[in-house]
Amino acid sequence: MSQPQMRRAIESGVPDNRQFLHPLLIKNYGNWKYHDRPRPGVLHHVSHSGDEVWTVRAGTQRQMDVHTIRKLCDIADSHAESHVRFTIRSNIEFMVSSFAKVAPLISALESNGFPVGGTGNSVSMIAHTQGWLHCDIPGTDASGAVKALMDELIGEFRSEQMPNRVHLSTSCCEINCGGQADIAIIIQHTKPPKINHDLVANVCERPAVVARCPVAAIRPALVNGKPSLEVDEKKCICCGACYPPCPPMQINDPEHSKFAIWVGGKNSNARAKPTFMKMVAAGIPNNPPRWPEVSEVVKRILYAYKADARAWERLSDWIERIGWPRFFEKTELPFTKYLVDDWRGARMNLNASTHIRF
Ligand code: SF4
Ligand code: SF4
Repeated sequence: MSQPQMRRAIESGVPDNRQFLHPLLIKNYGNWKYHDRPRPGVLHHVSHSGDEVWTVRAGTQRQMDVHTIRKLCDIADSHAESHVRFTIRSNIEFMVSSFAKVAPLISALESNGFPVGGTGNSVSMIAHTQGWLHCDIPGTDASGAVKALMDELIGEFRSEQMPNRVHLSTSCCEINCGGQADIAIIIQHTKPPKINHDLVANVCERPAVVARCPVAAIRPALVNGKPSLEVDEKKCICCGACYPPCPPMQINDPEHSKFAIWVGGKNSNARAKPTFMKMVAAGIPNNPPRWPEVSEVVKRILYAYKADARAWERLSDWIERIGWPRFFEKTELPFTKYLVDDWRGARMNLNASTHIRF
C-alpha cells in the first residue's frame, strides 16, 4: 500500500536565492578568506579553498524596459558566465571566475552606457521610489530628479574618494518609501489638502481617513447636506497621509508641493548606531525636468562633507562631531526653527538642547 503523500505548503515569498548563485559562490558559501577592491567598481573575493571571484558593479536606471534587461543579460551571457544580481540600491553585479574576464566585461558595460563604480567610499546608485510607474500618490517624478542629480555626480560614482560610502535616496511623497539615507530628497507638502466634497462620500471610507491622520486634524462633517470630511488647518502638518485612502483630499500641487532635503540617516550598525534623518533644507521648488535647485543643495552638503569629514566618518558621524551650527555654516544653508526637528512640538525639543537655541 502506498504511503499517503503530505501536501506541500505553497510558498509565495522570496525564492531560495542559492538556486541562482554563481557556482563558485555556492561552493564557497560562508568560506571566504578575505576580499579587496582592485579598482572602483570591482570586488575581489578569495576563499579558503583557493577559489577567486571578481564582481563588477555597474549603475542602471533602476526602472528598466525589457530591451535594457535583455541587453544586460546578453552582456552576462557573453562576458560574465551568465550570472547577474542586483543590489539593494539597484546596482547590477556580474561575477566572473578569472581576472582576465574583468577588463572585457567592464568595456562591454561602459560601451553600452552602464557606468562601472558604486563600490567602497563612493556615491552609490541613488535609491528612488516607484513614482508614477507603480504608485498613485506621487507629487513628483523621483526617477527624473535622480537622473538629473546623478548626471552631475557620476564622477563620484566612478571613484572612491568620499570619506565613507554615501547613500542617497529620492521619495516622491512624504510617506518616503525610499527610507533612510545619508542625504534624502523628499517631497514636502506645504498646504493642507483641498477637499472635493462632491466625491468624498462615494470614494472614501471616512472612519479610515479620520484614523489615518497623525495629529487628529480630520473629522466627519456634513457639507451641503452630504457626508464629507473637514480638516482643522491649524493642526494639519501637511503630511499627505490622508490622500492615499481618500484621493478627493487632494494635496499634490504644482506650486505648493516642494522638495525638502534630509541628512544623516543610516541603517547599519557599523561603527555607530543606526540614525534617523533630519531635515536641513525646505521649500525647494519642485522644478522639472532637471530640478537644478535640488542638485545645488545636495552638492553643497556632499562636498562640505567630502572636504571636512575624517576618514570613515559617515555623514551622520561627521555632523555628530562638528555639531549642527557648524553643519549649517559649512554648507552655507540657512537655518530656521523649522529645520533639524520638524515636529510641531520641536520648539521645546530644540530649546532644551545645549546645541541649538532660538
Ligand atoms: S515615495 Fe510615496 S508616492 Fe513615491 S512611490 Fe513611495 S509611497 Fe508612492
Ligand atoms: S495632511 Fe496629514 S495632518 Fe493634514 S489632514 Fe491629512 S493626514 Fe492630517
